[in-house]
Amino acid sequence: MSAPAPRSGILDISPYVGGEAHAPGADRLIRLASNEGALGPSPRAMEAYQAAAAELHRYPDGGSTALRDGLARLYGLDAARIICGTGSDELLGLLTRAYAGPGDEVLYSAHGFLMYPISAMAVGAKPVAAPETGLKADVDALLAHVTERTKILFIANPNNPTGSFLTSDEMRRLHAGLPEHVVLVIDAAYAEYVDRPDYTAGEELVEEFGNVVMTRTFSKIYALGGLRLGWAYCPPAIADVLNRVRGPFNVNSAAQIAGVAAVEDTAFIEESRRHNDIWREWLTARLTELGLEVHPSIANFVLVSFATKSGSGQPGDGNQAAEAARQFLKARGILVRQMGGYGLPHCLRMSIGTEEEMRAVVDAVAAFLKG
Ligand SMILES: *Cc1c(COP(=O)(O)O)cnc(C)c1O
Repeated sequence: MSAPAPRSGILDISPYVGGEAHAPGADRLIRLASNEGALGPSPRAMEAYQAAAAELHRYPDGGSTALRDGLARLYGLDAARIICGTGSDELLGLLTRAYAGPGDEVLYSAHGFLMYPISAMAVGAKPVAAPETGLKADVDALLAHVTERTKILFIANPNNPTGSFLTSDEMRRLHAGLPEHVVLVIDAAYAEYVDRPDYTAGEELVEEFGNVVMTRTFSKIYALGGLRLGWAYCPPAIADVLNRVRGPFNVNSAAQIAGVAAVEDTAFIEESRRHNDIWREWLTARLTELGLEVHPSIANFVLVSFATKSGSGQPGDGNQAAEAARQFLKARGILVRQMGGYGLPHCLRMSIGTEEEMRAVVDAVAAFLKG
């Protein structure tokens, strides 16, 4: 007997592994493995979520109208070009399904988000990784890997897990070098944390060109990952495609209601961004003082290399130190992200948490390094 066979390529997928959420035996838990907003959800979003309970027998608004209107108002966008989804993961998957298939190529940057190759393989397309320079997407390398078969280029900006980013000029140059048949998907999951004159999330490119999509999420600064809510800003023809392939009620009513309240609570978002600026800088400085290399980040996490600790300059340097540090932290209830799946086994990724959590992680890393 043999089991029914899925389409070719599906069994080659290594399933996505999320950040750890448990540390058995520890009496307190500090979760810095999934980049969830440090301050938790807006109190207004939580209130709206609770109030939604009495109406759970009703189907949601299939068009997520109030949420799209709220997003359009806040960010100055056209609501008709916004498509909401069950997390941005759903939208990345739908875009892949709609624009790529067997024989096609899906391009991404070598240390890009793991969902890009997974989405490609799920539709039978070939994931193609372009090398990076200094843990940053390389515009020329990406363009050099475009072929006639390339259908989608995924780029996270800022990127997870490196924290690096392409400036607005670099992104524009990347787009300018792409053939018109390639969809450029700018995954701006961390955009709300960034406040720099040389960065844009990409909405202006969406409005200017027919082949650029920007995706956003409520899982990071809005801290609503548990509700699964994301959105895409699209050219009209791509919005039309997504509306055809998405489920008719793909965003549940509680997520829509909480999302509207979260978007209206601009003071809370501002506070979250300020908190992140302060503690990302503080964490970077303390870890650097401890002799670790912290890759510069503009998002709500830092990538920390342990290679400098052994210092022989050989490949594999720091892999054991990073893993030992992760286990040392976990035994103390502090969860950070292992980076082997991203080809960076000598690194750990740490989310920016509360002041107390940041002080605890620095104390624990210092204790680890003292041995
Ligand atoms: C966290 C993250 C997302 C968000 O995914 P959701 O499905 O919206 O929770 C998307 N892209 C990147 C690069 C991320 O790090």
